[in-house]
Amino acid sequence: MILNYISSTMKMRQMSTKKGLVIVYTGNGKGKTTAALGIVLRAVGHGMKVGMIQFIKGEWYYGELTSARRLEPEFDLVAAGKGFVGIIDDDHHIQDHKNAARVALDLIRKKMSEKKYDILILDEINYAAKIGLISVSEMLDILKRRPKGMTLVLTGNYAPQEIIDLADLVTEMREVKHPYKLGIKAEKGIDF
Ligand code: ATP
Ligand code: MG
Repeated sequence: MILNYISSTMKMRQMSTKKGLVIVYTGNGKGKTTAALGIVLRAVGHGMKVGMIQFIKGEWYYGELTSARRLEPEFDLVAAGKGFVGIIDDDHHIQDHKNAARVALDLIRKKMSEKKYDILILDEINYAAKIGLISVSEMLDILKRRPKGMTLVLTGNYAPQEIIDLADLVTEMREVKHPYKLGIKAEKGIDF
């Protein structure tokens, strides 16, 4: 099977069609957002245009906010959230989080209609749907609007089953161990 995959990958390289995929990174283990950032690194190397719109994130600092600038103009990162919802230092009303998610949705629709990107990453969108900031039907609408040839990457735990059913590639990160459980705090460069 792996040989089949390698030989089909080699053929694809010769006649790359750029069909565009719907990719989902979900699960309770670490690595969903960083896997999406791995795609950015790979695609920008081909001169492809990549956008990342982050739900929920927006008030804390992550290293990718600065490294994104180094990958401009091919890569464009927008942190459109208001930080953690309902935990840690969340001093926002839930309506603020919902409004921020509305702004993110409008931006997604605008960027998709402009056909600006080869790849659009919607970071934490699955989790945003899980906690009710957006609805599953709004996610389905995004999938419907996906321009031909554009890849959509949806990250976050609790991906809705309807989205999993429609996706081309779904990977579930499963926690086997996480240092957080041993009381080890978030590590610079690894977690943020
Ligand atoms: P990353 O951004 O590191 O790829 P992720 O996108 O898979 O992680 P999220 O659910 O977005 O995970 O969580 C973001 C933060 O929570 C990161 O700092 C990450 O290290 C941490 N984290 C992820 N999975 C776990 C876990 N199972 N237990 C504790 N912390 C976690
Ligand atoms: Mg994440």
